[in-house]
Amino acid sequence: MRGSRRTVALTGAGVSVPSGIPDFRTPESGLWANVDPMEVAHIDVFERDPARFWSYYRPRFHSLRDKRPNAAHEALVELERRRLLDGVITQNIDRLHRSAGSQNVVEVHGSIATSSCRSCEVKFTLEEVDALFDGDGVAICAACGGAVKPDVVLFGEILPEEAMRQAHELAAGAELMLCVGSSLVVHPVAGLPEVTLASGGKLAIVTKGATPYDGDAVLKLEGEVDEELAQLIATLGQP
Ligand code: ZN
Repeated sequence: MRGSRRTVALTGAGVSVPSGIPDFRTPESGLWANVDPMEVAHIDVFERDPARFWSYYRPRFHSLRDKRPNAAHEALVELERRRLLDGVITQNIDRLHRSAGSQNVVEVHGSIATSSCRSCEVKFTLEEVDALFDGDGVAICAACGGAVKPDVVLFGEILPEEAMRQAHELAAGAELMLCVGSSLVVHPVAGLPEVTLASGGKLAIVTKGATPYDGDAVLKLEGEVDEELAQLIATLGQP
């Protein structure tokens, strides 16, 4: 990191696990234990059966609303502050990189920070959405009565073009990509390390478990992400 002129972080669900947000791939307990998020958090369900979609997504909003950034998010803020990090590309929708204070964040799967009316495009904050639900449990636009959808990329939707363009640009320009808390298997984000490698950049991976890029990385750390990144800051020393 000291030698790299341009470093970018790529983060996945693992970076938010210490904040109490489980990776959705790990089995859940309780009400939704037997429901596949890939089935219900799907654009087709949102369009066909919005009450079912929101019966899953509204509690999800509630559970994410009060979550706080952890030491891993904070370490990335500190690296950016020291000009050792040029940006964060994240698959996470929990907005924790922004609430921690990271400035240059590309949220390739969108964010729960806002929801938008699909008819008049008015935006509602996470706090405002809760007042929009009708008797069926469906969020209805306060301005026009249209359907309100979270500004996150649902299953079955394509990724936002502009965010992917920015992510690709950061990856292509990086001398070092720091991959944190991602198994690097969900495409198209999983293709970004390849972009960095193809441009002559290096990879460092901080993730539990194997990734397809382990053999290409100059460094692989398998500990808890918050502890590993806190150790990185300590090792770099005072600015
Ligand atoms: Zn509207």
